[in-house]
Amino acid sequence: MKKLFDEFKTFAFKGNVLDMAVGVIIGGAFGAIVSSLINDVLMPLIGKLITVDFSQWFVALDGNKYASVEAATEAGAAVLNFGSFVSAIIYFLLVALCIFFVVKAVNTARKKAEDLKKKEEVAPAKAPRLCPFCFSEIHDDATRCPHCTSELPKE
Ligand SMILES: [Zn+2]
Repeated sequence: MKKLFDEFKTFAFKGNVLDMAVGVIIGGAFGAIVSSLINDVLMPLIGKLITVDFSQWFVALDGNKYASVEAATEAGAAVLNFGSFVSAIIYFLLVALCIFFVVKAVNTARKKAEDLKKKEEVAPAKAPRLCPFCFSEIHDDATRCPHCTSELPKE
């Protein structure tokens, strides 16, 4: 029984489960940003461009004509509401597009940071010049060693 408990502890508090929990929470918060961007910013703009109200694209399956989905539903008719489906598809495409641009921006920023790091790594401190007599560090242009006062051969 103790073994089972230990196993459960390992499962619940180490590694994947915690990472996943963080992922889910961050994902949820991020989802709120994306849906706000779409509902509050993009949808009004798209509404200006496209004046079609998709939610009113429907076919009432009882063969009668109704003014709106609400009227048809109230009359008890089965409604094939394909306009909502079209909206859902457009919404999905917008989400995908938003995520694409966010990921692209993050990747670009990350690449820039990595390039900068690489540049710093590519140019490491040059090995210091050593006196051939006492092997102390000396200036690149020195003609005489400040440590052992030997005259240095020209390089
Ligand atoms: Zn020296």
